[in-house]
Amino acid sequence: MLYSELADTFDKLESTGGRLEMTAIMAEFFRGVDRKELRDIVYLSQGKLHPDFYPQELGMADRLVLKTIAITVGMPEAKVEDLWTKIGDPGEVAEQLIGKKKQMTLFSEDLTLERVVKGLTAIENAEGKDSQDKKMKQLANMLHDAGPVEARYLCRIVTGRMRVGAGTMTILDALAEAFATKEDRPVIERAFNVTCDIGLVAETIAEGGMDAIRAIGVQIGSPVKVMLAERLPSISEVVAKMGGRCAMEYKYDGIRVQAHIGKDGVKLFSRRLEDLTSNFPDIAQSLRTRCNSEEAIIEGECVAIHPETGFMLPFQNVTHRRKKHGMDDAVRDVPVRIFMFDILYADGKDMTNMSYPERRKALEENFSIGGMVQMTTMKVVESPEEGEEFFASAIASRCEGIMAKSLAPESIYRAGSRGFLWIKYKKDYQQALTDSFDLVVVGAFYGMGKRAGRYGALLMAAFDPESGMFETVCKLGTGFDDAFLAAMPDLLDDGLSETKPSSVQAEMVPDVWFEPTVVLEVVAAEITLSPIHTAAWGVIKEEAGLGIRFPRFTGRVRDDKSPEQATTVEEIVSMYGMQSHDSDGLSDGSE
Ligand code: ATP
Repeated sequence: MLYSELADTFDKLESTGGRLEMTAIMAEFFRGVDRKELRDIVYLSQGKLHPDFYPQELGMADRLVLKTIAITVGMPEAKVEDLWTKIGDPGEVAEQLIGKKKQMTLFSEDLTLERVVKGLTAIENAEGKDSQDKKMKQLANMLHDAGPVEARYLCRIVTGRMRVGAGTMTILDALAEAFATKEDRPVIERAFNVTCDIGLVAETIAEGGMDAIRAIGVQIGSPVKVMLAERLPSISEVVAKMGGRCAMEYKYDGIRVQAHIGKDGVKLFSRRLEDLTSNFPDIAQSLRTRCNSEEAIIEGECVAIHPETGFMLPFQNVTHRRKKHGMDDAVRDVPVRIFMFDILYADGKDMTNMSYPERRKALEENFSIGGMVQMTTMKVVESPEEGEEFFASAIASRCEGIMAKSLAPESIYRAGSRGFLWIKYKKDYQQALTDSFDLVVVGAFYGMGKRAGRYGALLMAAFDPESGMFETVCKLGTGFDDAFLAAMPDLLDDGLSETKPSSVQAEMVPDVWFEPTVVLEVVAAEITLSPIHTAAWGVIKEEAGLGIRFPRFTGRVRDDKSPEQATTVEEIVSMYGMQSHDSDGLSDGSE
């Protein structure tokens, strides 16, 4: 297939707003392509060559790409950089300049999809002293035979800027439309949730249809999308929602880890699919030693432990383990334990469709518990009073709160979904609103007074998975200490955007915009109707969205969450519903 066919489809998608239309364009394209090429096509439409959990990235620096463009079109580098300063996107720079070059070039060789995949793979694998040269050579080779639109997307892919607006959910819709029916859509999504590999799902459905999709199960090495909890504002509501009886576990304050224990080694994934094995080599080794089966996939929370007292330490301590350097020291200075709470697979058996009590039993049976490998403390609770007592003991043990888990026969592991089979209740709920929010930074305002010349406040957004948009909920200016104020540019400036990013819906205009990448934990006093914040616009009241009042940064950067894993607009609507509403006056949520 010619790469131009794919690039033209990207172009069509980019100029289309609606999800239905995008789905139709993609479905038609998927139907027409060689099925063997579908896997690459799907990865490339997300700007990648592999599934999300693959550690290596293409990542060419903007300047290197500009240099390559300059060489390809025979223009001084400074001129190309000038254009880039005006436009801000190396893809568009390439499109404009290659457009001119094309009219002058007589000879060119077909740029096929196969050639592009090979070229990009060579860029990804380039290593050593002359790796920059190797990357430039590969890109130049492709750009030489590329038309303007092809060049635009090549440069966006290599710089990690590929966003045509068609997210994973739209691709799944398109796969259902092209190769199955609407009714099959949830089964296709399940196949994605248990493998996190959209390319594998595409290839499987195109080649084997729905039977092959149904046969996809969890597998060692492919992370499973994590199951998440709903929240309720009191223990009595939690117990009532669970039907008067449920399991309660301590909610540990650490880092969630999904461990894939294989015959030849162990891999640890974070909830955003990063490989954490090198951060917790001691945990990986202990899990292997203490696992009685050949293979298993388990989940647990890694918590830092005080080296002398053995008490659990707050989350900030375990983050030392996430630093890239000095890991040997960190392993020695920051002892950790894993508190296991679920098992998804053991020795060829997919356990995600088993009930919680069955999984808990299997988890205990498959491990020799001890040392660094522990089970979460659990109790079956049959009244609100028992629940309160268990909650008090969780807090006394320095945990964040409790996780209630359904004991019903249908209490399966729902990969990738947030539901009432698990309900969390945290000690914060007693002081603040209902729960903390994990919000995405989409803009910043310069400070005044002591904060002059620095970012003083941030524009924060929640995520709407339906539309793929980040919608604003507050201006956040409280809770920043001096160290965080100083560190803000380093944390945020990689995502600077000249204009409002296309995935952001905002009325409030900050001094600078950011691509949604950084997630911060925020607590607040109240959710109110807002005339300027765009989250859930028109859902509760016409011409109003939802904003959060008196937001405060907790000091916790949620780098374990991707922007798409931030608090959703739907969650904010449901938290709004849990509040008592004395007034429905509008507030701008910017205090
Ligand atoms: P939070 O910010 O409250 O940790 P979250 O959005 O990361 O929430 P939730 O599903 O809402 O995720 O809360 C569950 C989280 O709590 C899990 O992701 C996990 O990291 C942690 N956790 C701690 N103890 C347990 C436990 N016993 N069972 C399940 N999850 C636990």
